[in-house]
Amino acid sequence: MMLPFLSRRPTVPAKDGASWPHVVIVGGGFAGANAVLGLRDSRVRVTLIDRNVYKTFQPLLYQVATAGLNPGDVTMFLRGLSLKVPNMRYRQGEVVGVDPERKIVTLNEGQRGDQELSYDYLVLAGGATTTYFGTPGAEEHAMPMYTRAQALAIRDRVFSELERSSREAWRTHDKLHVCIVGGGPTGVEIAGALADFRMQELDILYPEMDPGTLQVTVLQRGDELLKEFSDKYRQYAADELRDRGVTLRLGHGVKEVGYDHVVLDDDSILESDITIWAAGVAVPDAVSEWGLPQDKRGRLAVDDHLQVKDFPGVYAAGDIAAQDEPLPQLAQPAIQTGAAVARSIAADVKGKARPTFSYTNLGTMATIGRHAAIAEIPFLGGLSGSMGWAAWLGVHITKMLGHRNQRAVAMNLLSLYGGSRATHQPNPVVGEVDSLRAARIFEEQARNRLFGLNAGAASPVSPVSPGSADEADEAAAVR
Ligand SMILES: Cc1cc2nc3c(=O)[nH]c(=O)nc-3n(C[C@H](O)[C@H](O)[C@H](O)COP(=O)(O)OP(=O)(O)OC[C@H]3O[C@@H](n4cnc5c(N)ncnc54)[C@H](O)[C@@H]3O)c2cc1C
Repeated sequence: MMLPFLSRRPTVPAKDGASWPHVVIVGGGFAGANAVLGLRDSRVRVTLIDRNVYKTFQPLLYQVATAGLNPGDVTMFLRGLSLKVPNMRYRQGEVVGVDPERKIVTLNEGQRGDQELSYDYLVLAGGATTTYFGTPGAEEHAMPMYTRAQALAIRDRVFSELERSSREAWRTHDKLHVCIVGGGPTGVEIAGALADFRMQELDILYPEMDPGTLQVTVLQRGDELLKEFSDKYRQYAADELRDRGVTLRLGHGVKEVGYDHVVLDDDSILESDITIWAAGVAVPDAVSEWGLPQDKRGRLAVDDHLQVKDFPGVYAAGDIAAQDEPLPQLAQPAIQTGAAVARSIAADVKGKARPTFSYTNLGTMATIGRHAAIAEIPFLGGLSGSMGWAAWLGVHITKMLGHRNQRAVAMNLLSLYGGSRATHQPNPVVGEVDSLRAARIFEEQARNRLFGLNAGAASPVSPVSPGSADEADEAAAVR
């Protein structure tokens, strides 16, 4: 890792270029940020729009959700990109419309309402979002983990429920069930981190609680976890999770989610105090209103130059885009397509032929937990165990934008995983742990519950009024 405080910050000349072509980039994620970086030496004005002022490093969100990292460790202030790209301006807002005929994007900026912004080149890099596949109750009761706020909500809910259980479980022998829907990398990573927490920290931090109170289950529609890996590594991941006490329910989808349970497609009902939704991503519905061609999964259809088919000057990159042979919705394709879009625009501005995009597969990685990860890297082969874990750590730290992020993540993961159980001093990154509110909602939800004290009873307290915004937020936060 570079030590930036030992090297001088490069001096970047301010660029004016009022007459230069205007490139509007929607989304400052992996694709958008790399498109910005790729345009630093081009004679273009770049406006980067994102609803958030930060870029999120999603691969480590599970560490935020399980209290291993601070939320700011995985986010970088987008305005920081202007250090390297002086021709970029950041603008916060929600893009609510695209009009390719008039070359306009419509931006909602809150108080100022909708604003129109014209462009010469447009880069659509807004990524994907969670999909519940229409599963009844999922949107209401399951907790997604696509954004930093959602990861924090999971973390606060887990600790609120742990506090609540620490008061109750010794008396009722009730378990705290966390069900994770989806056996892809996100589901596996969060299950492994919770299992590690139970093995390494729970008995120290909650001595009054039997560590077996926390039950972690992964629910997967397919028969195996991590379908993007080869059989050997899928099996390794499943064995590691089972060794860590995680229950795997494979081969059954979730057909309904309730307040404290999930119903599987064979009609079996599992207790689930916290249901984490790690099951799928989709392009937001609003994209279909832009009048641009989409593939059957809703992704914007792009050609070999990553230009949206038949729309000159409009490009798409990352999770929102797909060529005829779609790439997986992962960080590397987003980084590479974002950088390639910048090369196409830079060439076009210079009047040169645009390069054809070709993807370089750098491999796939997933971590299961402490000292256990898998990596499949072309030409080098596969890694698992501590070697895989070291590779996973190295790649994830060095791939973060922002030196502060790299150093903070390295230090926090060292505190979490360094040393042995005998030397480990647990100190999770906790936030607003309101177990009293969790207990009140647990009581209020009595009639919707199938498990626990007074389950199915008429609610002793009035349900949260839908008219009260504060109360509704409160309920949503501990959902
Ligand atoms: C929990 C989780 C774990 C993951 N783990 C891995 C992993 O280990 N390895 C891996 O390779 N990939 C992983 N991925 C996938 C990877 O993060 C995505 O493929 C990648 O982020 C896609 O990059 P992107 O730039 O297309 O979109 P994003 O990174 O999602 O960025 C999109 C940006 O656009 C902004 N935006 C969206 N719509 C609008 C709008 N209308 N107006 C304004 N701004 C908007 C958003 O705020 C966001 O900043 C993970 C994803 C998640 C959710």
